[in-house]
Amino acid sequence: MPFLKPPSPDEVFSRWVDGMSDDEVEELFARKDMPFDRSSVSAAEFVKEVDRKIAVFFMSKIETESVEAEKKESNYEGILKIKFYEFPGGKVPHELKLDSKVPVFGSLEKTECPDCAGAGYIECAKCEGKGSLTCSECGGSGELSCSECEGAKELTLTLTVLSGEEEVERELRVQCPACFGSGKVVCDRCGGLARLVCDDCRGEGKFPCKKCKGAGVLFTYNVSLPPISGKKAYLIYSKPEVDDALAEMLEEKVGQLEAVRVSSHEQLKRNDLEAMLGFYNKDVESKASRAKKILAELEKKADRRGETPLYPVYIFPMLRLDVETAKGKRIQLFAAGGGKNYTLITL
Ligand SMILES: [Zn+2]
Ligand SMILES: [Zn+2]
Ligand SMILES: [Zn+2]
Ligand SMILES: [Zn+2]
Repeated sequence: MPFLKPPSPDEVFSRWVDGMSDDEVEELFARKDMPFDRSSVSAAEFVKEVDRKIAVFFMSKIETESVEAEKKESNYEGILKIKFYEFPGGKVPHELKLDSKVPVFGSLEKTECPDCAGAGYIECAKCEGKGSLTCSECGGSGELSCSECEGAKELTLTLTVLSGEEEVERELRVQCPACFGSGKVVCDRCGGLARLVCDDCRGEGKFPCKKCKGAGVLFTYNVSLPPISGKKAYLIYSKPEVDDALAEMLEEKVGQLEAVRVSSHEQLKRNDLEAMLGFYNKDVESKASRAKKILAELEKKADRRGETPLYPVYIFPMLRLDVETAKGKRIQLFAAGGGKNYTLITL
């Protein structure tokens, strides 16, 4: 004994037509140059196709505020490349999907860079931050020993003198003309400054900190779901475009429909469904298993997405009439629910 007897196509069509004003009925079904009588408008004449399937409907609750944000860190160059978001008055841009996590501008905070302790630079190890090194040529004195006198300050001049019949050598001393008698000359490497520019840091004494790129600070920010609270309706029936449109229209009415109600996704299996629906076929099997998968996924990811399924899950017959009006316009008429209590939707 099937529990859910769907309405008949004739009954559905009549109910639809009965709900329209005379003008509306005439607009849709009056034939050109023929007298019009609304009582003669019939499903047999205008319904071109009928199909019967089941639909699975459920809602979810969305509260993204409860989802923990992901903390991220970046330097100033990094945050320049990031697109941040703000949600003034809770307003969420349309481009954002429900489950897309985005960097939130209001969460940006500066922290001192741990690598350079906020200085923005790292001291040069070679010169210990001084920018210069002791001259290796002169050892830091700025002077070198005079190479002319070898430090003796004087030069010895040797003259050849004829002494009587004998040629002899006589020595005379003079101040060394190269070092002016000091024995030292200015170091040609450092020019007497005693220090050389550090060749590692080229005299800077420091290198920009790689982590903070010289700014001395890093930025932390939250990557989180846009603040959304509300409900979402899911319909598993035909194809996404149709299902989404129908789900929106069914949201208010679904509680009043004659439908099978399932209070846990565990019940979406053959034995339970067959007992509740009075039948079981491929259509039921594939839709129930899709619903089960979505519900299980929502439950599993609830703490990351902020979306939790709301039970019951409704399973009801869906009768679709493909109506062609007198002017050849196609209207799809859906009857959702069992024969005792169903709702009409047109697309
Ligand atoms: Zn740093
Ligand atoms: Zn250096
Ligand atoms: Zn020197
Ligand atoms: Zn000298």
